Order: sequence, then C-alpha cells, then structure tokens
Amino acid sequence: MNKKQIEKRVLRTIEKAISLSFAIAFGKRVKPSVIAKRVEVCSKCENVQYKGKFKVMRCSVCNCPLTKDNRLLNLAGFQETRHYGCKHPDGSKWKGL
Ligand code: SF4
Repeated sequence: MNKKQIEKRVLRTIEKAISLSFAIAFGKRVKPSVIAKRVEVCSKCENVQYKGKFKVMRCSVCNCPLTKDNRLLNLAGFQETRHYGCKHPDGSKWKGL
C-alpha cells in the first residue's frame, strides 16, 4: 500500500468515525423489528462479509458491524441520514424499512 492509499484509508476511517459519532450522539435509534429487517436485507447483499473469530457480519462498503441485537456499534441500529446508513453503490437497500 502506498502513501496515497494509506492517506485515503485514514481519511475514510475518520469520516466513518465522525458519521458514527453523530449517529450515536444525535441519531434516532430504530425499533428492533427494523434492525432485524435490515440485517435480513444485508445478509443477502453482495457487500456483506463475515469477519473475525466470531464471524461478525460487516458491510464491506463502510466496514461497519451489523447485528440483530440493539448494541451501540451497529450500522443497522440508527435512522438513516444523508451521511449515515446503507451506502450501497446502487443506493440504500434499506429504503422503506
Ligand atoms: S451495502 Fe447496504 S445492504 Fe449491503 S451490506 Fe452494506 S449496509 Fe447492508
């Protein structure tokens, strides 16, 4: 990985951290039923990955965790905004949920 790629990766990580921080601080939590529906959509998405020893579901677009439970670090746990939510290249797959 060259310096430019590293810089790009660091900037993306900072961007994600800010977006997640805003969601945690000001975002509205969604109902557990909505989380479950979103995770169901994600489980069929080509961008989902299962990482680590516990095979945690993650979105490869933003590298955020996706879980059915109501934990804080869960991409599916907050209402979507312009900067936060499903960032599928074709548009959000969570529309209407
Ligand atoms: S792109 Fe959207 S639907 Fe696909 S895994 Fe990521 S959050 Fe889920």
